[in-house]
Amino acid sequence: MAKGERHRVVIVGGGFGGLFAARFLRRTSVDITLIDRTNHHLFQPLLYQLATGILSEGDVAPPLREVLSRHRNTRVEFANVTGFDLEARTVSAVSPAAELTIPYDSLIVAAGASGSYFGHDEFGRWAPAMKTVDDALELRGRIFGAFEMAELAETDEARRTWLSFAVIGGGPTGVEMAGQIAELSRRSLKRNFRSFDPRDARVMVFDGGDAILASFGDRLSGKATKELERLGVELHLKTRVTDVGLDGIVVSGPDGEERVACATKVWAAGVQASPLARMLAEASGAETDRAGRIKVLPDCSLPEHPEVFAVGDMMALDDLPGVAEVAMQSGIYAAWTIRRRIHNCAPSKPFKYRDLGSMATVSRFRAIVSFKGIRVAGFVGWLMWAFIHLTFLTGFKNRFRALVNWFFAFVGHARGERTITLQQVSARVIAMEAGVNPDAGSIAIPEKGDAGVAPSGGAAREPT
Ligand SMILES: Cc1cc2nc3c(=O)[nH]c(=O)nc-3n(C[C@H](O)[C@H](O)[C@H](O)COP(=O)(O)OP(=O)(O)OC[C@H]3O[C@@H](n4cnc5c(N)ncnc54)[C@H](O)[C@@H]3O)c2cc1C
Repeated sequence: MAKGERHRVVIVGGGFGGLFAARFLRRTSVDITLIDRTNHHLFQPLLYQLATGILSEGDVAPPLREVLSRHRNTRVEFANVTGFDLEARTVSAVSPAAELTIPYDSLIVAAGASGSYFGHDEFGRWAPAMKTVDDALELRGRIFGAFEMAELAETDEARRTWLSFAVIGGGPTGVEMAGQIAELSRRSLKRNFRSFDPRDARVMVFDGGDAILASFGDRLSGKATKELERLGVELHLKTRVTDVGLDGIVVSGPDGEERVACATKVWAAGVQASPLARMLAEASGAETDRAGRIKVLPDCSLPEHPEVFAVGDMMALDDLPGVAEVAMQSGIYAAWTIRRRIHNCAPSKPFKYRDLGSMATVSRFRAIVSFKGIRVAGFVGWLMWAFIHLTFLTGFKNRFRALVNWFFAFVGHARGERTITLQQVSARVIAMEAGVNPDAGSIAIPEKGDAGVAPSGGAAREPT
């Protein structure tokens, strides 16, 4: 840092980790550049409501520039980060306009994670993971499109396939998706179709373990199981998905291997840290774990590079889970450490996570909550879930809109966000065939040999 210049902080990622770090430094005498490859801060915990027509993309993903518009020390850069030079202290990025080299004095990397297909990236073509606005809009198109196609189907078999929904993974995201697809078909779409009854839709959850929401313990997992069964969701436990295609999946379970016909598939089974974690590990000599997360020091920094922090979903520390609270707290901690250093304060104590519990909704007015040994299920759990999510949703307008939409969707029957377009459904396949990585955020710059999810060839016949 040249004499008289302000300390430069570069933050990669405007998710929970990056945004909370930037917010913490709002009144600190530093110049911040926040780089993100999307233009928005995505509230991932409500993505399933975007995919099932309850909320709009604006409700869950406000523009970063707007969120940070009052932060005079912060500049938002719309660019895809491609590398780091830890010796020269620069970040390389590609924006739609130019290749950028951005210098820093302190660096916080909070690039999150993406869906993992456990070595079968080709599954992604037919079973989008739920990580981005693109994923959720595509799923919305596939879900509502499947009901439209069922209305047009000429045979019972084709109609049954369109009305069969497979959710792969029985964690919070899978359960929330399955619960909402079931509610959609049992309540919201009533009287909308003439050739079939939407209540006949088959909603299935496949999970390799012996319980859904296993991390919540037997009691809460049992309550969630009962509620899903009440909604008519089929739970296929101890069952692994071994292949995914256009019209169905192949599963291997206690009864052997079988093919299940289903047009709509949702992948909610695993996550993989951002490739930036591996890049940082190679540059600093740090290790990565099985999920590709970088093993950081107790203060979230990298070995030999105290000025570089990795936080949130891409860091591995003390077996902390990939949840929003860990990202927020570690982002704030990294920002706090930078501020202490600028003010020449004593080194900060190691990062300590304050566990604020976990929660998952199962259906309308039903959620489970686990907090410091207290276990709550049902309506009270749902009220707690609603309160926490409204509190953390960014911006008053978004909170108000979410509340109004919840009222219409849950008290009434209406889903206000049912518009679907062909582009949303076919964009992934077209992007892949054009050599564009569909997981590269909003910046569609084709990179040679980097198609992300390998196209499996042949013209695509999309479900809508
Ligand atoms: C469907 C779903 C539901 C969830 N539900 C819950 C829940 O109920 N409760 C809970 O606590 N947690 C939940 N989580 C987990 C929680 O959302 C994450 O733990 C949290 O978002 C992690 O924050 P992060 O800042 O590390 O990463 P993210 O929030 O993922 O942010 C990463 C940011 O980095 C940007 N980025 C990535 N790569 C690059 C690059 N190369 N260049 C530039 N920018 C880049 C991305 O665009 C993104 O904005 C859920 C996650 C999902 C997907």
